[in-house]
Amino acid sequence: RFITLEGIDGAGKTTAASYLAERLGEEGVEVVATREPGGTPLAESIRSLLKGTEGEGPTTDTETLLMFAARAQHLEQVIRPALQAGQWVLCDRFTDATYAYQGGGRGLSAERIRVLEHWVHGGFQPDRTLLFELSPREGLRRRAGEGGQSDRFEEEGTDFLRRVQATYRQRAEAEPERFQPIDAGGSWSEVAGALDAWLARELAQ
Ligand code: ATP
Ligand code: C5P
Ligand code: MG
Repeated sequence: RFITLEGIDGAGKTTAASYLAERLGEEGVEVVATREPGGTPLAESIRSLLKGTEGEGPTTDTETLLMFAARAQHLEQVIRPALQAGQWVLCDRFTDATYAYQGGGRGLSAERIRVLEHWVHGGFQPDRTLLFELSPREGLRRRAGEGGQSDRFEEEGTDFLRRVQATYRQRAEAEPERFQPIDAGGSWSEVAGALDAWLARELAQ
């Protein structure tokens, strides 16, 4: 099963991915936890290029093409082989993030993104997508709390993240069977409880 985690910056995706990987392991499910952009050495190099603050910075077209280049490599090298081997794949961001960030956030048309999506993965889609819902302000606050090194992506403010979130919501409304919204605004134990409930339903299928 191919499960993706989506949501704005700081919504708790990475925390949830490691929690779910551990819980699935306890249930005896073989699971591969991975992320985008990245997930293979070459795709991680593309991620570093995208995050870099040196040089002129990519145009939105360049950024989108690099996202899909990384994705093509990740799909071929990691995601498809794992699924073929019967493992579950948990992926921290996937193509919905391109629609949300490069599309909604930066204004690239969905038509353009669809062309690349079709090229790179045709009709292949996640089986389930967990959408972590949090206000942009709280997301930025949680991330600032980490005190990590800032990169090119962190210059965006709440207006940008509001557009990203609106695009995620539109996509979730269009595909309610694939998307599972998770209220990420509560404490971690509340979020973990929602993830446990979701996982129990998922394992029962
Ligand atoms: P990014 O998009 O920047 O990678 P993310 O969605 O992966 O962000 P995390 O890195 O998992 O988010 O979480 C951001 C910060 O918020 C971390 O410091 C994490 O420990 C903390 N955090 C996660 N969940 C909660 C929660 N429910 N309540 C409070 N803090 C939380
Ligand atoms: O979630 P993660 O921290 O791995 O993402 C790295 C950065 O890349 C985030 O700050 C996010 O804003 C950005 N990103 C993006 N477009 C994507 C995927 C991620 O701008 N399609
Ligand atoms: Mg993360």
